[in-house]
Amino acid sequence: MYTEIEIRVTPEEASDREVVRDILAAALRVEKQRIVHEEIIRKSIDARQRRVVMQLRIGVHVDRLEQKERCFTPGYRDVSDAEPVIIVGAGPAGLFAALRLIERGWRPIVLERGKCVEERKRDLNALYRSGNVDTDSNYGFGEGGAGTFSDGKLFTRSKKRGNVERILEILVHHGAAENILVDAHPHIGTDKLPRVIVNMRRTIEHFGGEVRFNSRVTDLLVEQGQVKGVRVGEDEVLARHVILATGHSARDVYRMLHRREVLMLPKEFAVGLRLEHPQALIDRIQYHNPAGRGNFLPAAEYSFVTNVEGRGVYSFCMCPGGVVVPAATGPEQQVVNGMSSSGRNTRWANSAMVTSIGEGELQAMGYSGLFAGLEFQETLEREAWIQGGRNLYAPAQRLTHFLNARASADFPDCSYKPGLRSTVFREWLPDVVYRRLCGGFRDFGRKAKGFLTDEAVLLGVETRTSSPLRVPRDKERMMHPEVMGLYPCGEGAGYAGGIVSAAMDGEACAENVY
Ligand SMILES: Cc1cc2nc3c(=O)[nH]c(=O)nc-3n(C[C@H](O)[C@H](O)[C@H](O)COP(=O)(O)OP(=O)(O)OC[C@H]3O[C@@H](n4cnc5c(N)ncnc54)[C@H](O)[C@@H]3O)c2cc1C
Repeated sequence: MYTEIEIRVTPEEASDREVVRDILAAALRVEKQRIVHEEIIRKSIDARQRRVVMQLRIGVHVDRLEQKERCFTPGYRDVSDAEPVIIVGAGPAGLFAALRLIERGWRPIVLERGKCVEERKRDLNALYRSGNVDTDSNYGFGEGGAGTFSDGKLFTRSKKRGNVERILEILVHHGAAENILVDAHPHIGTDKLPRVIVNMRRTIEHFGGEVRFNSRVTDLLVEQGQVKGVRVGEDEVLARHVILATGHSARDVYRMLHRREVLMLPKEFAVGLRLEHPQALIDRIQYHNPAGRGNFLPAAEYSFVTNVEGRGVYSFCMCPGGVVVPAATGPEQQVVNGMSSSGRNTRWANSAMVTSIGEGELQAMGYSGLFAGLEFQETLEREAWIQGGRNLYAPAQRLTHFLNARASADFPDCSYKPGLRSTVFREWLPDVVYRRLCGGFRDFGRKAKGFLTDEAVLLGVETRTSSPLRVPRDKERMMHPEVMGLYPCGEGAGYAGGIVSAAMDGEACAENVY
């Protein structure tokens, strides 16, 4: 017999297999010895009440082991002689598109401006040493895209856009830990992600696809409304289908599309700052325990959302036990983001704190036209770079000082390696962003006692949460309405907001290639 059962236990009980078995046996009214195997199917933490509990959904095999169906069995086949499909960008959207094309019998040629993961790591080390951003190899560009050196959070709200379980199983097939199939808020961690990405590349190459690094696409070849291929430096790469999955930091790609008169539309996005607290403080708040998280609970997360002046203010991409990193992709930019390792074991918790920016706000600030959002992002990043001292230093202010518009004379210990430079955000952050963030923080402070603290630091600026442009496509064929064979894909085209949604979008585009 196989049955699934839901139990609520303390974190300590959840960590003891014998205790869990006792509870299962009692609930099923069978002798404990008859349970031959049990597997956790879903695991979440319920910290809404004072007493934190683990909610476990467990598959129990009584008397014999039953085989369970999986939602992904690899159907990769040799595509060496198949028709090629160009994929621009080796981020999650591009890589998952490539794998799906192989299952469908097409030969993917993935063109990536950056380097393979191994070399990318070296460039990131050089970034910290020199302070200079390599414009093709950084936290945004290179094999695995923006997702490689990230928290590797795999939680998505866009469940209707595809099969989340399938994406997670493909990651497991390529070396991710199986617990991502179980955790309600799964994450891989930046120490484990690179290996998974390298394995995905190996699968693509093993079955006859190609991944070409140092291959920045500089032009799209179109004849009479039909894609013919792309230009990479002096070379042309030809194919009837091009999946464009270049991410939202490839501003040169938007400008190239504009030159080619490819229709694009402005899109709402969000900007703000990154906030860092001591993780121990977040643990105490979220687990309602002055003693912290203890031995059986993971580093606590949070997620806040509110409305200020009728617009959203929210936390985004929260990294428990993580670090803040310099995520610029070009010179004279100061951009921050967050990442963590699988253990989520640093002393800090960071999260983007952002507010929505649309046409109304942009117009009021004097920006107009298709590139209004992009130019606004660029201006803000340049100002942050100046405020940071024209190097990788992040302009920073203690949270309490931010609310009072006072400069911070010093800072608590912070994870951001390049260093901090004291600023008064009130003096240069657009007023609308400053006001709304203040409103948001006050609201979050009311919801979580202790959140508004001197020990928290704000770092600037967080501008790469989503794309300020959409490259349109028709719903049925996923193709651009005016360029046959062009599939705008992933976060850069405006159809994803994270690793999993980008991966699902990559698969969806690949499924529509005919
Ligand atoms: C530090 C950091 C942490 C993050 N943490 C998380 C997280 O924990 N969870 C989560 O869900 N999301 C996270 N994100 C966001 C996530 O990484 C992105 O949403 C996701 O990677 C988008 O996937 P994509 O494939 O659409 O684009 P990208 O990942 O941006 O990939 C685009 C690729 O295209 C390449 N490219 C660009 N232009 C060209 C060109 N002209 N020619 C050839 N190649 C080109 C780039 O080099 C890049 O590799 C994080 C992002 C960052 C920067």
